Amino acid sequence: MTSNQDSDRYRSALDALYASDLLYVPECWKLCGDAHCCGFARYKSRFKILTNKPFQALPLLPGEYDYLQAKGWTAQFGEHEHRVTRYTIDDRVIVAEELVSRRSGCCCEHMTRTVVCRLYPLLPVLDIDGQVVGVDDRFGSFEELEAIDTMPVACQVRAIPFDQTDVFLSMSRLIGSIPEWNFALQAYQLTRRHVFDRVRDGKARSGKSAFELFETMYFMRRLFDHDELKKSLCALADRFEARYGPDLVLTRTGTAS
Ligand code: SF4
Ligand code: SF4
Repeated sequence: MTSNQDSDRYRSALDALYASDLLYVPECWKLCGDAHCCGFARYKSRFKILTNKPFQALPLLPGEYDYLQAKGWTAQFGEHEHRVTRYTIDDRVIVAEELVSRRSGCCCEHMTRTVVCRLYPLLPVLDIDGQVVGVDDRFGSFEELEAIDTMPVACQVRAIPFDQTDVFLSMSRLIGSIPEWNFALQAYQLTRRHVFDRVRDGKARSGKSAFELFETMYFMRRLFDHDELKKSLCALADRFEARYGPDLVLTRTGTAS
């Protein structure tokens, strides 16, 4: 739940993001053959348990779920959960929001799809000031697992076409314009690197497939080295608080709602 002040700040930026129709390649689903960019159906056969029940987990920007609800756009996700994870790193709490849908296949309508769906398969790399300094092509778990197992990449979108560059940049700058969003994106990318560095190390030791290792580590709760991850997230939070001070809303322990 966000404060009224936060909601106002987020709403106009979300209006602009949801009006952005970034289209890398028209009908790109015909190129990759399934259109399940984010669904576990893409690699169903490589998992033993994770794919038994369809689900997709879409990371959300802080305040995005409230926005979707206010707009009346959550029915598109069918049976779903607004999952809020609170991760205590010292006296501060990092709040990560996801939309977990049980719909099989794509769970979004095109015009009201979430911000991550609009950006997939490329994320911006932002600096502390919210300026775009690069493009991240390891969007999520599948891209990381493909890279670790040196597999052909399923997604056929490789780059931003020239005529879409401005749309990508303006969306990226909007995300960078809100310190909490910039922080959430960088915390997500840092955490993703942490997890998949561990999977890569596991593969180097065992020679097993990255998919098998990922599933095993997930169920054995070994995807994270919490001491190491917290140290990295604390350093990131320190840098953001030094830059933004009270403008950056990081929850303190005892005040999490
Ligand atoms: S639009 Fe979103 S939910 Fe649908 S397949 Fe793409 S990333 Fe997944
Ligand atoms: S974005 Fe990539 S994975 Fe998704 S439908 Fe297009 S080509 Fe396929």
